[in-house]
Amino acid sequence: MPATNKKSIRELDERELSEWLKAHNQPQFRFQQIHDWFFSKLAVTFDDMANVPKSLREELAQDFAPSSLNPATTLHAEDGTVKWASELFDGTKVETVLIRAPERSTVCISTQVGCPVRCAFCESGRLGFVRNLKTIEIIDQVILASHELGKRVDNVVVMGTGEPMFNLDNLIPALNFLCSAENGLSISARNITVSTSGIPNGIRRLADQKRPWNLALSLHAPNDRIRAQLIPEKNRHPIRQILEACAAYNEATGRMITFEYVLIDGINSSETNARDLAKLARLTHAKVNLIPLNSSSTTWKAPAKEQCHKFLDTLTSYGIQATIRLRKGDKIKAACGQLVARKGEEKHQPEADTKKKQE
Ligand code: SAH
Ligand code: SF4
Repeated sequence: MPATNKKSIRELDERELSEWLKAHNQPQFRFQQIHDWFFSKLAVTFDDMANVPKSLREELAQDFAPSSLNPATTLHAEDGTVKWASELFDGTKVETVLIRAPERSTVCISTQVGCPVRCAFCESGRLGFVRNLKTIEIIDQVILASHELGKRVDNVVVMGTGEPMFNLDNLIPALNFLCSAENGLSISARNITVSTSGIPNGIRRLADQKRPWNLALSLHAPNDRIRAQLIPEKNRHPIRQILEACAAYNEATGRMITFEYVLIDGINSSETNARDLAKLARLTHAKVNLIPLNSSSTTWKAPAKEQCHKFLDTLTSYGIQATIRLRKGDKIKAACGQLVARKGEEKHQPEADTKKKQE
């Protein structure tokens, strides 16, 4: 079914749905049935509602959309990872990834169509910025993955396309819905992680929510000089200011910050870089997650495996809690921005200044 601009059934509050049922001469017990299907049983079509008459399903479909997403491409990897590129009502696309692990399942969701930050190594950045996702478009990605899984996902990572801090107006209500036990999915706030390229005002605003959501900072460099090679000036802030905002976040929420650090050979992966990063991590009481570069669209490469492990060892020798991220779903290009980028390659060219920095 194509995605439409009709109001989503999940956007209706109790009063609106009750009134709609009344206006359509439906008994009120249908309210609970519809509510159960769309909030507990993770329905994605009206036909999923087996105990609701076809005529009512059709009437609902005339006025509302069962989902704001139309999964246009679905890729399954052998390790169970699933990646969707879903079409939205305006024809734009958004990507979502479900990562299965024996002990827990994680969905990686997007917050924007394209991304205005345009980091030099990131395919989402290459797409340029199109628009912010609506609250329901963020929520429906979690529903889509949960529906595939057959039960609600355990973890949500806001690490897909887009800079979450530029869409807090829509993201915060979406996260509140996901965590709400009364009228949402009851996901534990501690199982939600928001990743940012480092927007101090946004980090502070998220801190003001005082919710124990995890914050991941895409630091990628131990100093501003190296960082300037990776993140274009327009949306880049001094590391000192970002770390101050992270400290405020930690103070307000009690959550430890994670630094994400994409390892790029010859750019940010030397022994000195590791030592300088360790010092920043210690200062911020942060964990470090190393991500060897997935180099599909740049001339840069990830360092050799041994070098990545040496970098990790240096961090741990400083007492820093650090890991190297295992890549799941590599064969289906389950990394940030890759599915949408592949489909629209001819339309989106890298920015001139980004290109130069890579040469
Ligand atoms: N915009 C946010 C969240 C989405 S990106 C942010 O930048 O934090 C999620 C993570 O994937 C970021 O840490 C990002 O730097 C990383 N990433 C993007 N492109 C990558 C690539 N080609 N290889 C490895 N990691 C990449
Ligand atoms: Fe945007 Fe994050 Fe990609 Fe940078 S890494 S371009 S901030 S999505």
